[in-house]
Amino acid sequence: MAFPDGFAFATDFDGTVTVSDVAALLLDEFTDDSWTDIEKDYREGKITCREALRTEFEMLKEPEEEMTDFLDANARIDPDFKPFLALCRENGIPVRIVSEGLDFYIEHLLRMNDIDVPFFTNKAHFENGGLRVSFPNASQDCGDCGTCKLEVLKDWKNEGKKIIYAGDGMNDICPAKSCDVVFAKGDLLSHYRKEGLEHIEIDGYADIMSEVQRW
Ligand SMILES: [Mg+2]
Repeated sequence: MAFPDGFAFATDFDGTVTVSDVAALLLDEFTDDSWTDIEKDYREGKITCREALRTEFEMLKEPEEEMTDFLDANARIDPDFKPFLALCRENGIPVRIVSEGLDFYIEHLLRMNDIDVPFFTNKAHFENGGLRVSFPNASQDCGDCGTCKLEVLKDWKNEGKKIIYAGDGMNDICPAKSCDVVFAKGDLLSHYRKEGLEHIEIDGYADIMSEVQRW
């Protein structure tokens, strides 16, 4: 395998690095199903992604440990993600996770799986018996998302890197469009198909591995 020079790799977390969407697992387990109405409003464009994230995540009232215990039993990292990271490291390709999830569960799941990779996401503050969300990676110019994945990739762009992007969600559409190679599943895939945009369809990291090994 030979990654062309000057490449960098960015990936979404929920449903891309993980087999299923971790935020959805937590909301399904620890809230009533009213979060799905908020999700529907977001998908129909009635509210922004940031509004949806804040309202949904702040429904979580359980202590952090109770949620991470649940995730230890129920969330799974794509088994091919770690070998893929090793491959990137061998080839000097920098990797970042860009996520609209929450720092506490990303940090926990990476640590439990002995994975060390930088991640950019929203921040959970456990306080007053609840959870408050803040957005340390928000854009100064656009209020749509919590974490501006586009902005998180800006330094790579400025360095002239070619960016490979992997994602599965609606919030991956904006950053993916600024990238050079797109691996898509889920809603990102549907959008790319509908718009006739160039992409590589994936089910998981096994597909990404086999694709880059052909390069
Ligand atoms: Mg996702």
